Amino acid sequence: MSNNPIAATTLNKDDLIVIAGAGGFIAGSLVRYFADQGFTNIRAIDKKPLPEWYQRIPCVENLSLDLSDVDNCKRAVEGAVEVYNLAADMGGMGFIERFRVECLRSILINTNLIDEAYKAGVERYFFSSSACAYNTDLQKNPDVRALKETDAYPAMAERGYGWEKLMSEMFCQEYWAERKMKTAIARFHNVYGPNGTWDGGREKAPAALTRKVIEALDMSKLEIDIWGDGNQTRSFMYIDDCVKGIDMIMHSEALIAIPINLGSNELVSINKLVDIIERIAGVKLERRYDLNAPKGVAGRNSDNTFIQEVLGWEPSTSLQEGMGKTYSWIHQEYYNRKAGKPTPAGHY
Ligand code: NAD
Repeated sequence: MSNNPIAATTLNKDDLIVIAGAGGFIAGSLVRYFADQGFTNIRAIDKKPLPEWYQRIPCVENLSLDLSDVDNCKRAVEGAVEVYNLAADMGGMGFIERFRVECLRSILINTNLIDEAYKAGVERYFFSSSACAYNTDLQKNPDVRALKETDAYPAMAERGYGWEKLMSEMFCQEYWAERKMKTAIARFHNVYGPNGTWDGGREKAPAALTRKVIEALDMSKLEIDIWGDGNQTRSFMYIDDCVKGIDMIMHSEALIAIPINLGSNELVSINKLVDIIERIAGVKLERRYDLNAPKGVAGRNSDNTFIQEVLGWEPSTSLQEGMGKTYSWIHQEYYNRKAGKPTPAGHY
């Protein structure tokens, strides 16, 4: 199986690609990825007003629409050949543990969008699922066994957010089984990189810890607050690997309606992640652990046996390399905001 991006070999350059959630982190980068490959007909959609989008790519049709509304979904998919659903009301652990209703309500987006995509005769439909769909009973120890695709059932997903993902996956599976619309389902494991949320309450650990290190240096207060005891483990996938993986999964005939892990298998503790950021910043901070803060499951890693088997590929950007790029971007945004320049994070 080829390691190269494959949309270019299966689509015409002017086929309409619709990307939902494009004002956000991953979908914004996906729009850029397709535009960079020369696709000329991309429709990017998000409910946020345009000035709040992380990226707006020239020559892309950018629409501000709430996709939980069925009429907006109809408008969104008009003429589309492919639809990528990355729109969801979500954030890091602090958000998904506190706002379970909001997370569950994202089911309206997928339910309406997939149905309108089907009615519009869309050829392929992508859904961004999550490792939070996995059975939480298997994630109670920091020395976790990596999660393989079959570990989602028997189901005991993360309350709210994880159950929404599991149900929406099922919609994708049944639209293929019953109605023959080709669907693709990727279970992302933590994604990080430039152009994502880094402040305001929805940010995830890599961005939040990076901001805290930058803040500590800026304030000359060499301390850092860490949620939990720092021993909880995760793997983190760099954004470039994520968008390439989305392309490969979406266009694989062997993966129609089959959920697959899309994540790194470089397992690190939160303490180790802080070590990496400190090394990039050239500082050593005093760590203060907040044992009452949201911290999610004790450990989680991606088993990449299946993706290797089917695609002969897996995300491979090292955390050291990816965090270097992420640090530079957040550093710039932090000081832009401090200087009073408009930044997307400033809107939250
Ligand atoms: P994000 O919050 O940066 O982007 C999601 C976007 O969806 C936001 O811009 C938001 O405004 C938009 N949105 C929310 N409700 C909407 C609605 N009703 N109509 C239109 N747009 C709406 O998040 P992200 O990190 O880019 O995540 C993208 C997808 O990947 C989501 O489905 C998320 O659950 C999934 N995912 C992300 C991660 C991660 O680590 N970032 C991990 C697992 C799964």
